Amino acid sequence: MPSSTKYIFVTGGVTSSLGKGIIAASLAKLLQARGYSVTIQKLDPYINVDPGTLNPYEHGECFVTEDGAETDLDLGHYERFLNVPTSQANNVTTGRIYQHVINKEREGAYLGKTVQVIPHITDEIKRRIALLGETGNYDIVITEIGGTVGDIESLPYIEAVRQLKWEPDFDCIVLHLTLVPYLATSGELKTKPTQHSVKSLLESGVQPDILALRTEHKLPKDVKEKVALFCNISPKAVIEAIDAETIYDVPILMEDEKLDKVVLDKLGLPYGKEPEMLAWKEFLFKFKNPKSQVNIGIIGKYIELKDSYKSITESIIHAGTINQINVNLVWIHSEDIDEKNADSLLKNLDGILVAPGFGERGIEGKVTTVKYARQNKIPFLGICLGMQCAVIEFGRNVLGFNDAHSTEMYPATPYPVIYLMEEQRGIVNKGGTMRLGAYPCKVENNSKAHEAYKESVISERHRHRYEFNNKYLAEYEKAGMKATGINPENNLVEIVEIPNHPWFVGVQFHPEYKSTVTKPHPLFVDFVKATLQLKESKKTTAVLNN
Ligand code: GLN
Repeated sequence: MPSSTKYIFVTGGVTSSLGKGIIAASLAKLLQARGYSVTIQKLDPYINVDPGTLNPYEHGECFVTEDGAETDLDLGHYERFLNVPTSQANNVTTGRIYQHVINKEREGAYLGKTVQVIPHITDEIKRRIALLGETGNYDIVITEIGGTVGDIESLPYIEAVRQLKWEPDFDCIVLHLTLVPYLATSGELKTKPTQHSVKSLLESGVQPDILALRTEHKLPKDVKEKVALFCNISPKAVIEAIDAETIYDVPILMEDEKLDKVVLDKLGLPYGKEPEMLAWKEFLFKFKNPKSQVNIGIIGKYIELKDSYKSITESIIHAGTINQINVNLVWIHSEDIDEKNADSLLKNLDGILVAPGFGERGIEGKVTTVKYARQNKIPFLGICLGMQCAVIEFGRNVLGFNDAHSTEMYPATPYPVIYLMEEQRGIVNKGGTMRLGAYPCKVENNSKAHEAYKESVISERHRHRYEFNNKYLAEYEKAGMKATGINPENNLVEIVEIPNHPWFVGVQFHPEYKSTVTKPHPLFVDFVKATLQLKESKKTTAVLNN
């Protein structure tokens, strides 16, 4: 695999959820800030071909790339940190690897051979790892291996790493992230789990080059030295990864720990310029020094697992930060809301976001929420299913379309105001068959969307099967809900607004996939601004009434 690209593998030990994705993204950020072109890839050891068919409760949000891949939510972190889009090649699952190998076997590519995990599956893993480097676009590719070392599922990936470490033309290092637990009763930091985790890697023939130790407390020098001694690593390559106030602190913490320099030394690359992190630090300053506070409600049915709405919450954080507003997120389960309790549940909100989703559960709560936001003039952002609920609500309560619905929930509705897209008819397979990825949208001049984007043609990412039924468009527009964003190629309605409302916007696409730290998404920025305006005007009214 000759290529000048260098590779960093990130593995994890002891437990899951240690934040490999954030460490990988932070390292990538620092290397990028030194002038290197970097991308990150995630290898997921499950058998689903992609996470698109997974319930959000299982795996959190499904992140969609520009080219329409349904991927792991870590790719969202990569994009938010690096401000560079990822693609299909940035996320590979065991399912995809096996699918490819099995298809080749059926085609006869291995005629006469027994197809085996080693070398056929490991070769395919290695091919996928090298793909991003071969584009010639990157100096460094960081490959994060999902799961925990020692899992049965991870074995072929670790084996592929072992083989690559021995390939003469393949320049790579391994960064292993583990946990150093703190035992409160004895007041001790324990290194044994780390030692065992490294042993487990060594049993697979992989010696890590750098260890990052996740910890609640600062690691004394002797703890680092002990780990270095037991794990065959130089003490300066033992990096403390202390719990942070926000994930956006982690690149700065890693810079303090000199992770970027240690990595460049190991890869034999020059340090380049000092990391340019000014914009990042300014973001952190604003994040930690808000001037005002608002309450924004997120109405969804997967709220027990906040990761289900990861990109949405991060987009709100970006937008709040740039406005120097601290946004207090109020999570409300859509199944808990009805006409009777809507006022008590929603009255303290300065803004309402109705989240994306699929299926019948919680729909009536979402529709009731939209009605409350519309009637009480609370800033409203509806995303995908949230936009569809806004259309359903307007149909039922303003246009008098009794039982108006989406045919997704009620196929026989007398008013199918949301219905299955033409291109979706006849599709039976569920995996990877939605309308996915980036499509252009023409934005109406006099609209909230245009005020936000300040552009007439935008491009946003999609993930849906149903859409606004254009048969009803004229009636909606006449009654006060306008289509302010249209796909120029097929006239699909992408944005709806109620001009006679302070800020009411529903979008069929997912703006949350495009918000980054240095480029907060304009729709979220304006939505959060509108919530502050509402709050300030409430204060003024209260003063006037006194
Ligand atoms: N279930 C709806 C559809 O398929 C909305 C999807 C979504 O919110 N991502 O059109």
